[in-house]
Amino acid sequence: MLLASVEYARPSSLDEALSLLAANPNARALAGGQTLINVMKARIAAPELLVDLNAIPELRGIQETDNGLELGAMATCTQLARHEAVHRERPILAKVAAQIADVQVRNRGTVGGNVCSNDPTNHLPPVLVAVGATMSIAGASGIRLVPAEEFFVGVYLTAVGPGELLTGISVPRRQGGDGFASVTIGADGTCIANAAATVNGSTRIVLGCVAAKPVLLEAPSADEPAVRAVVDDATLDPPSDVHAPAAYRRQLAAVLAVRAARQATREAA
Ligand SMILES: Cc1cc2nc3c(=O)[nH]c(=O)nc-3n(C[C@H](O)[C@H](O)[C@H](O)COP(=O)(O)OP(=O)(O)OC[C@H]3O[C@@H](n4cnc5c(N)ncnc54)[C@H](O)[C@@H]3O)c2cc1C
Repeated sequence: MLLASVEYARPSSLDEALSLLAANPNARALAGGQTLINVMKARIAAPELLVDLNAIPELRGIQETDNGLELGAMATCTQLARHEAVHRERPILAKVAAQIADVQVRNRGTVGGNVCSNDPTNHLPPVLVAVGATMSIAGASGIRLVPAEEFFVGVYLTAVGPGELLTGISVPRRQGGDGFASVTIGADGTCIANAAATVNGSTRIVLGCVAAKPVLLEAPSADEPAVRAVVDDATLDPPSDVHAPAAYRRQLAAVLAVRAARQATREAA
């Protein structure tokens, strides 16, 4: 289906983009367009103005910092999958980014778009919560920092408010190990369930696809019985759909959490 008519702006600075968004409550940021253009074609979203973020230098790229990595909101999934510093400092991000959809989606789709759309089946939200990432959100009153575990608010909802933009994501340098496991609809498909784990003295387990936002659990250890027990005690109420009933997703959550924790333990050793 063709797009409905929409105004388009391509600002070259963050300030300009924020002014455009603040001036029009029906404006939407356009990143890779992989989700937004599709929902506009389906008439599920009908913004008056698209504010294209692709010409804003400060949102691009991936930098190594003293503490770890700084991912620009406009870094693509392909850049995340291939970046040498990501492979060295937090390889789980590269591994998971490489599993997202297909080459075209990874080449166009951005890290910022992936987390700001907060589709509960997306790959990156659980991983970013597990690794303890911090999101930078810019608005009229400056930049505020939000821990990833508070960033995801509900289905398609995040802490980014009207007139604000996600500018980047800080990921701390790896101290222990990380893991990720998923069951998808076919090869490279959407996740039916996924789990991320970080083992670093404590064991953080984050479940995806079983609630409106990633479910963060702390396990007393990364051993299978401890991880299974913490998932079982979480009283998950996942959705049922054509791909899986709730009971299957609940069972997958425990299996995938154990696999992710095992992988994280191996990486930490
Ligand atoms: C066929 C297909 C299969 C896919 N499969 C998967 C999959 O298996 N796993 C997975 O994780 N993802 C999957 N995706 C999603 C994809 O990885 C992209 O992350 C996603 O489409 C959004 O990224 P984008 O850069 O295209 O954002 P856009 O579509 O441009 O934007 C998405 C939303 O985020 C907002 N937004 C974007 N950037 C910012 C910002 N910096 N600040 C504030 N708001 C912002 C936009 O306004 C919009 O509401 C799939 C997409 C497609 C089309």
